[in-house]
Amino acid sequence: MASKQYNETHQNRGLSPFLKEYLATLRFLKEMGIETLPVRRDSVMPKPTVKPNAAPQKKPEDPTRRLNELEESLKGCTRCKLSEGRTHLVFGEGNPQAELMFVGEGPGRDEDMQGRPFVGRAGQLLTRIISAMGLKRTDVYIANIVKCRPPSNRNPEPDEIKACLPLLLKQIDIIHPKVICALGSVAFQTLMDTKAPISKSRGSLYPWHSDISIIPTYHPAFLLRNPYKKRDVWEDVQKIMAFLAGEKP
Ligand code: URA
Repeated sequence: MASKQYNETHQNRGLSPFLKEYLATLRFLKEMGIETLPVRRDSVMPKPTVKPNAAPQKKPEDPTRRLNELEESLKGCTRCKLSEGRTHLVFGEGNPQAELMFVGEGPGRDEDMQGRPFVGRAGQLLTRIISAMGLKRTDVYIANIVKCRPPSNRNPEPDEIKACLPLLLKQIDIIHPKVICALGSVAFQTLMDTKAPISKSRGSLYPWHSDISIIPTYHPAFLLRNPYKKRDVWEDVQKIMAFLAGEKP
């Protein structure tokens, strides 16, 4: 296994970043059991309406400015005890006008160090999922239920969620995505105010507030521990792509 990985890394040396990303996507699809690709791209996956590389068009309310102002207002935030142990507050990042938003649980160690969401091992898997959808991280928006790292990566506690959730709701209100992919049970149960288990709820589209829908799937960290569940996630993200392409659920 180690030598296979070495060979892949070794062979990748000298390839352009685009080709490296493309190979990573192919490897991810293979991990999910997809061994062959039809010639036409849109027969594998519906064309997302999010246009990769499309120049962001300004909405009248200027979501970029509003997000920047919100982020600025959180400097030095002490709304909850998670502020005591943080290195960086992880606000979120991506396209301020994204049609698709991913919401995770809370920053881990790498995210706390870098101040960016989903940049550790689970984050790299999320990036591969996004590129397997034919998108880039910059096409979507990525955020978390809480913006500061819970110690030892424990789940955020109810008082921490209560303090931080209004900020995420403001972000969602500004971005106004068509669909939010809730990653894992903390994100799903918090956003939907439910105790329904993720294993039973994943892959369904739930109407949320103001025309926004939520689709839950497994958290990438869970996938790292349970790789055989990648198939399920692939099915769930295909539903997101179909939804964004305007197909009826
Ligand atoms: N896990 C999360 O839920 N969010 C991150 O940003 C990273 C890991």
